[in-house]
Amino acid sequence: MNSIISFVNFVRGNMSKSYSTPILILAIFFISIYQSSSYADNNIPLSLSDPIIKSASELDYPPFALVLDNGSADGFSVDLLKAVVTTMGRKINFKVGPWHKIKQQLIDGELDVLPLVAYSEERNKLLDFTAPFMRLHGTVFVRKGDNSIFRVSDLKGKEVLVMQGDNAHEYAVQNQLTDKLILTDNYEQAMQLLSSGKHDAVLMLQLVGFQLLNKLKITNVVSIHSHQETNIRPGSRPLSGYEQKFCFAVHEGDKELLSLLNEGLAIVIANGSYNELYDKWFGPILPQPRVSWKQILKYLFFILVPLLFLAAAMGIWYLRREVASKTNYLQEEIRERKQTEKTLHDSENKFRTLFDVAAIPLCYVNNKGVILDFNLKFTEVFGYTKSDVPTLEEWWVLAYPDPKYRKWVIKTWETAVEKAQKENTDIQSVEYRVTCKNGDLRDIIISGSTFQEYFLATFIDLTELKQAEERFEKFFTLISDLFCIADINGYFRLINPAAEQILGYTQEELLQRPYMNFVHPDDREKTEKVIHEQLQQGKKVINFSNRYVCKDGSVKWLEWTFHPMPNQGVTYAVGRDCTQRRDMEASLKASELWMRSIYNALEEAVLVVSPQRELISVNKATKKIFGYTEKEIHDQSTSILHVDQDHFVEFGKKIEDAFGQGKSAEFEFRAKRKNGEIFQSEHTVSMLKDEAGNPLGIVSVIRDISKRKQAEIILEETLADLEKSNAELEQFAYVASHDLQEPLRAVIGFLQLLQSKYKNQLDEKGRHYIERVVKAGHRMQSLISDLLKVSRVNTLNTSFEPTDLTKVLEEVLEHMQSTITEENGVVTYSRLPTLMVDKSQIQGLFQNLIVNALKYNEALKPTIEIGYEDKGHECRFFVKDNGIGISKEFRDKIFMIFQRLHPRKDYSGSGIGLALCKKIVERHRGNIWVESESGKGSIFYFTLPQGEK
Ligand code: ADP
Repeated sequence: MNSIISFVNFVRGNMSKSYSTPILILAIFFISIYQSSSYADNNIPLSLSDPIIKSASELDYPPFALVLDNGSADGFSVDLLKAVVTTMGRKINFKVGPWHKIKQQLIDGELDVLPLVAYSEERNKLLDFTAPFMRLHGTVFVRKGDNSIFRVSDLKGKEVLVMQGDNAHEYAVQNQLTDKLILTDNYEQAMQLLSSGKHDAVLMLQLVGFQLLNKLKITNVVSIHSHQETNIRPGSRPLSGYEQKFCFAVHEGDKELLSLLNEGLAIVIANGSYNELYDKWFGPILPQPRVSWKQILKYLFFILVPLLFLAAAMGIWYLRREVASKTNYLQEEIRERKQTEKTLHDSENKFRTLFDVAAIPLCYVNNKGVILDFNLKFTEVFGYTKSDVPTLEEWWVLAYPDPKYRKWVIKTWETAVEKAQKENTDIQSVEYRVTCKNGDLRDIIISGSTFQEYFLATFIDLTELKQAEERFEKFFTLISDLFCIADINGYFRLINPAAEQILGYTQEELLQRPYMNFVHPDDREKTEKVIHEQLQQGKKVINFSNRYVCKDGSVKWLEWTFHPMPNQGVTYAVGRDCTQRRDMEASLKASELWMRSIYNALEEAVLVVSPQRELISVNKATKKIFGYTEKEIHDQSTSILHVDQDHFVEFGKKIEDAFGQGKSAEFEFRAKRKNGEIFQSEHTVSMLKDEAGNPLGIVSVIRDISKRKQAEIILEETLADLEKSNAELEQFAYVASHDLQEPLRAVIGFLQLLQSKYKNQLDEKGRHYIERVVKAGHRMQSLISDLLKVSRVNTLNTSFEPTDLTKVLEEVLEHMQSTITEENGVVTYSRLPTLMVDKSQIQGLFQNLIVNALKYNEALKPTIEIGYEDKGHECRFFVKDNGIGISKEFRDKIFMIFQRLHPRKDYSGSGIGLALCKKIVERHRGNIWVESESGKGSIFYFTLPQGEK
């Protein structure tokens, strides 16, 4: 149905009434069929007893709707609706009223139908429309002679009159024709304003406009479509989108009335009533068609029109198709040509840009040897500008100043160009050494391409590449790390000389065997793992260490960085010999273990204390001494080890003072154990510093000296006791020996009297006994005398004085001169020092030693050497002889009182001499000892302190 209605619309709107009539008859036929089927479908009965249809007409919309003087509705659409309703056997009643009012009444259902409603999508939502019975186009009316408006677009900025709320109004707003819309209540008013010279144009339906002009007898206003033929400027077309389809409209949903009206409309059009009404109302305002045409068409209609129509349609279709195809072809050709031109242009631009910004020097030369162009890179690399080398000749001379070399270059180049031209290939690449403008020499590979009349030379600068190669070569050769490239088959592909130095194999040996052969058997599994799980997955590996067996059988640790290049099927690797570091680490670890075991094995408590005097670490002995475990004491203040807070503070000050003087400190202090017991301790404190000398803390070594202190006290007491007992003993020895001398002298004296007075009365045996008793008495006298000497060493009230020991020795020797001579002895001595000594005792010391040296000597010429060595704080004296010597085991024994090594019959003596010597030396705070071997002479040493010089 819609297509039929559209067809009717087309006819109504685009053809004159004469042409449209036959076509409308055709349309009627289809509409009738549709309507019948529609009734059949909907089964809606028609009845003459139906109530009168209520309608209304607008007040003033000639010739469609107008009001007669008697107030009744009239006009084309009123007449048409009346005809349609009457045809369908129904009655209709018209009211009149303003458009907006009657429209609302229809929407509200107060009216059944309106005779003239312009179709729009919006209205269709509120009302139902019949097939349109007329389609009108909008146009612009202007004043005659106004040449400024020819088309809708000319309305911009113009004052355009429209009726408020009309379609023209909507159209003007929607399309933003102008920003100066002048709104009127009706079009009559608009036309009059325009005609009177006000404003610029009226926008409205053309047909209605003509009607108005006619009615108002306005002659100075025309439609812009009417002066097309007389104007040479491009004509305007009907206003696109501004057209109105006029229909009957019924209350929304009133299908029955709608069907009735559509059917009636079809009949009215078919039976000629429509045409009659059309002529009646539009005839006066439209130009009359020529009679002849009308007549001819009327008679020939059934034969010619369809044919003509068909032929015309076909002709138009064909022509259109041809024109369209030709136009397309031409447009395509133009487009292609433009595209080609653009491509060419782009390509030239691209080439030019490429040439200019190319990363390598390029140069164009024609076949006459003229250098046409070269790029920026050319000047950058060689330094020559275009004026320097206008021709190839200039280039040869400048770039190759050595004539001999130049000759070779020209020959090589020309041969290459000739070959390229002949074989239609590129110019063969050859390396030349080019001299730049600044005199630098550059290694350049020159090649190029020949064209018909010129060639393009390309230059690849190898200088930097060569330098880079050299640098790499040096780096590769000189680096002390092992650098290699290994392939996926498990072989080294490239390996640097450092590998030889590290592993001891030659490069050939390393390249010939799979690298895994060199890996230590114990490390192969983990090496394989890294290869499979990381390198073959393209993952970089750093700090991987494994061992290698060197050619000499030694094992080396290598620390690797692997960089796999999966695309190339190789891995780049750098290995560093970390054997030494590993060994060091191991020994460091061992040393740390060692230190720790010492730390823990120490008897002393060792505390590592922070600068804030908090305990950081303690050894095992701490538990033994203080009773705290490391866990208990960690982070605690060292104050817990002190007797009280004052003690702690005072101790801190002492440490600070000591550290202030830059030394470690030693203190004794009373410490406190966990169980509260106080004990005496000895404390060595040293500062712990980092490499830069910054204090890190304090190390305290604490010894429990409570037992030692006790022992010291006991020792002191014992010594005191001993000294007391010695003194008593000496006193006793002195008293005894002194007091014994007197009775002994009496015994010997009376025995000697007995001997001299009664020797004749005694027999031989008696005389012998008395003789032995006298001898024993003398010996006892000598023993007591010696004992007396020994006991008096410490008790004699002699004083220490600075004494020249040379003098002392010389006095002794002088005193002993006869004995020495008797023994055929020789005594030599060096100069001796002056020391604080008891002179008479030192005399005795020298005398005893010299006597012994002569006595225990079997040499024909007993030789004695006396001297000393300055040992700083003391002097070490020696008395050396060439006597019988002393066995090792007796070296200490001889210094004990009454100890002798020989029977008296062999060597006389009492065994007191050396004991006396020892006592004298010890009284002087020195030592005495002997170095000797049996039969090899003896050296007696004794030391005497230097004292303050
Ligand atoms: P005496 O000489 O009276 O026996 P000494 O105390 O002087 O006592 O010596 C103790 C012993 O040391 C001597 O009996 C002698 O055996 C040994 N003696 C001392 N001086 C020497 C010496 N110069 N060479 C070898 N033996 C010595």
